[in-house]
Amino acid sequence: MTEPIVECEGLVHIYRTAELEVVALQGLDLRVEPGEVVAIVGRSGSGKTTLMNVIAGVEEPTAGVARVGGHDLARMTERERETYRRELVGYVLQHSQANLATDLNALENVLLPMTNRSTEESRQRAAFLLETMGMDELAATYPGELSGGEAERLAVAIAMANQPQVLLADEPTAELDRATADSVLRDLRQLLRESGSAAIIVTHDASVERHADRVIQIRDGRTSTQTRWLERAGEVVADELLIMDRAGRIQLPRAYVERLGARGLIRAHLEGDEIRLRRDDQEPPNE
Ligand code: ADP
Ligand code: MG
Repeated sequence: MTEPIVECEGLVHIYRTAELEVVALQGLDLRVEPGEVVAIVGRSGSGKTTLMNVIAGVEEPTAGVARVGGHDLARMTERERETYRRELVGYVLQHSQANLATDLNALENVLLPMTNRSTEESRQRAAFLLETMGMDELAATYPGELSGGEAERLAVAIAMANQPQVLLADEPTAELDRATADSVLRDLRQLLRESGSAAIIVTHDASVERHADRVIQIRDGRTSTQTRWLERAGEVVADELLIMDRAGRIQLPRAYVERLGARGLIRAHLEGDEIRLRRDDQEPPNE
């Protein structure tokens, strides 16, 4: 097995304000392999943006392990953190315009974060990024004149400037119509492939899930189920995995719960490595 590029184990993040504490991540586990594209889905408030911020090196983990490309995110000096943010990860923030410097044109925006490259190499990489994201003809255009889809394309090119090992994108298609979202994601996927970067994409959008190798659900700051897309006889099918948490509880994919009409008890049989589930017809006591 290869070393994962992202590895979170029992990750906890707590926001502390004067009056209250919010436990945004409560023991989250996540592994992403190099080059893998993972979609993260979950309701509003489930901790998706917090997870992105921790992996991006913007927020420090409160407890647990978060390792990215050999860096332990809980033990970085300020200087390491700065280099990490600039070179190891690329981050597309939720609102595309927030990623863009309004007083620079598209090409200058992509050149701005580049480090460790000669001027000529930087120009070449910027040209490649703009072209792959379909923005080469808009190189001289300023962000204020870009459409939503174009701004998102530019935000991706900027985040990929230093060829990060992991691209993070927080709801990149939320502001786009279906067709535009699809074409942006296709080009993003192409760019990831050519750069050999892994990606974690937060989304509400089922079409984004189709562009990922794997879909992970997050609920109340924990990962709950994972779906892998499997190809069987030329047809792509979803394979849902159950996850057992550290207390030994199994969390069921929603589709199972619905299929079993399961409000009461479910009986689980362990047969070798397989778990079989069926509805238990006995009513649970005291209900
Ligand atoms: P999502 O992106 O899935 O909507 P978030 O990570 O933004 O979820 O939020 C997770 C929880 O943490 C929510 O309860 C939210 O209100 C809380 N939260 C997010 N940011 C802060 C903050 N800066 N201070 C306090 N609480 C926060
Ligand atoms: Mg969010």
